[in-house]
Amino acid sequence: MNYFTFGMKVLRVTQNYNGSTSHKAHWYHSTNYADYPIDCAGKDGDKDIYYAPVDMKVTAVKGIGNATTNTIWLVACEKCMTPSGEILPFIMLTHFNDNDPYVSNLKVGSIVKQGQPICEEGTDGATANHLHIVVGNADRGCGNGFIQNSNGKWVSNGYCMKPEEIMYIDKDFTNVLDTNGIIFKDKPKEEPKESFFGSKGYFCLGNYHENIGKICDFFAEYFYGYFYKGENAKAKAHQVLDGNYFGPYLKKWTIEFQKRAKDEGKYNDEIDGCIGPKTLTALKYYGFQE
Ligand SMILES: [Zn+2]
Repeated sequence: MNYFTFGMKVLRVTQNYNGSTSHKAHWYHSTNYADYPIDCAGKDGDKDIYYAPVDMKVTAVKGIGNATTNTIWLVACEKCMTPSGEILPFIMLTHFNDNDPYVSNLKVGSIVKQGQPICEEGTDGATANHLHIVVGNADRGCGNGFIQNSNGKWVSNGYCMKPEEIMYIDKDFTNVLDTNGIIFKDKPKEEPKESFFGSKGYFCLGNYHENIGKICDFFAEYFYGYFYKGENAKAKAHQVLDGNYFGPYLKKWTIEFQKRAKDEGKYNDEIDGCIGPKTLTALKYYGFQE
């Protein structure tokens, strides 16, 4: 898993999302849609590049050759670690020029590999070179167009969030000149560790995950005796507790496990047949290894 980071080599925010010049009405007192844009102008008045921080797929390109301000939306190809946890981030970049050397190669569905340019700053719909940047959580709604909010502002659709909630700053890549008051988190030094439960936080009937398969194997191997007796008991348990899908058999085993662990004082939560952190701790007590 990768960290999701800011994609310019210089961070110089010329207007944050509180900016009264044009940004505040994007969200303040909006009763329906909102985004939280920042304007970034790079190291100087010239055009800096925005690089893909991870592999990203283009979800929309709008405005080239028409009246709409030039804008591109991309979504990460895989979940990323962000200051808000493991999510699928999307990004919107606005104001690049019609003749942008990078966007001209992109269309909906194109992949921009990690470290490759997406676009550069421009002046389409703006008076000075910069990029107007919006980010969000595609798990809850991916951006791919504009929508007008109750303040009359055209904002990105999708589930938009504040930039510091989605992007870390990689100080080895980005030279921070001015965040305009926004407090970004630095990209952590160590590699992000994916949580056992993925982004949801627990496993329940109907879920699918490779760690569900590990738990199935564990139950079948060591606790087949809950429901099967005799010489083929273990094989039968492996037959029904098979694969990475959380099916009715795993639920049955989980409920039995929770009851027994509770009786033995190793589990003190609900007997619900779902596997969350407390059930995992109990499983580990009885020998399960992640
Ligand atoms: Zn702006």
